[in-house]
Amino acid sequence: MRPFAYARPKNVRDATDIVTPMGVAGQGGAWLAGGTTLIDLMKLDVLRPEQLTDIQALGMDEIETDGETVRLGARVTMAQAAEHPAFKEGAPVLSQALWKAASPQLRNVATLGGNLLQRTRCPYFRDVSKACNKREPGSGCDAVGGYNRLLAVLGTSENCIANYPGDWANAAILFDAVVETRRGRRGRAIELGKLHRLPGDAPARETVLEDDELITAIELTVPSWARRSYYLKVRDRESYAFANTGAAVALDMDGDSVREARIGLSGVATTPWRAREAEAFLRGKALSEETAMQAGAIAFEGARGWGHNDFKIPLGQRTVARALLETARLS
Ligand code: SF4
Repeated sequence: MRPFAYARPKNVRDATDIVTPMGVAGQGGAWLAGGTTLIDLMKLDVLRPEQLTDIQALGMDEIETDGETVRLGARVTMAQAAEHPAFKEGAPVLSQALWKAASPQLRNVATLGGNLLQRTRCPYFRDVSKACNKREPGSGCDAVGGYNRLLAVLGTSENCIANYPGDWANAAILFDAVVETRRGRRGRAIELGKLHRLPGDAPARETVLEDDELITAIELTVPSWARRSYYLKVRDRESYAFANTGAAVALDMDGDSVREARIGLSGVATTPWRAREAEAFLRGKALSEETAMQAGAIAFEGARGWGHNDFKIPLGQRTVARALLETARLS
């Protein structure tokens, strides 16, 4: 690992004053919270920050509830959030998406702010001897035409087919999540659905955040009917593995009929992904095996396989259908 400078400010204002922006090439400064992605990538020489600003003394670790609103500090850990009754009982999909990610050790230190921003597991991104437009803009993409079994089928471009590896963002996106940030003395709120950018012709720019902008909190609106929600994750082994496909589902039912459906997809897209056309298709319909399969097909309209990952399209369609049917069975 390369040498770096280290600072541990005591409040958010000091932190946002002293941080040095990290450029797309992985140099400059970086925020250090749980460090579960950052330190790995520094050891691999993929990221080479010259300064780390440790935010562990900044608080931002409370969970507050007010009616349907849940506000989480950015340093709340995955384990803390997964155990909170607002999720565990009020919206199981938000708890399950956390429990089905990583390992207990990682969930105890990884923060929600970092979780939203976790980097792709594309093997070519993590290998500095390979061409990768995300790591080194303009160098090419060895995954297109290479071994791309784990990579994305939705939201891709010829320049990058890396999948977004997270689970929780695909559940949080169902509940109008808003990300609060600070940059210098100014703050702003960004809809979670607008935080990440499609790769297009600039895959190194993964979010709309400025290089020195700090996520401070995440706020969600969790309706009472979100008790009927479920996270299905399909992977090569049952624990400590990333999703091949996944579906986060919440249903508001009127008997057998769907009043409202919300569907997020994991393991298949370049950003957190909400299947809004499939949701619209289901509204007012009786949920049956047939309509669930139709919704799955609609969720993957426009998907493109890149060879090794072609299987994700039919598997993803069936994952959505099964998640819908399992969710409908919940009371
Ligand atoms: Fe890099 Fe994206 Fe290509 Fe992977 S898919 S090698 S992350 S440009």
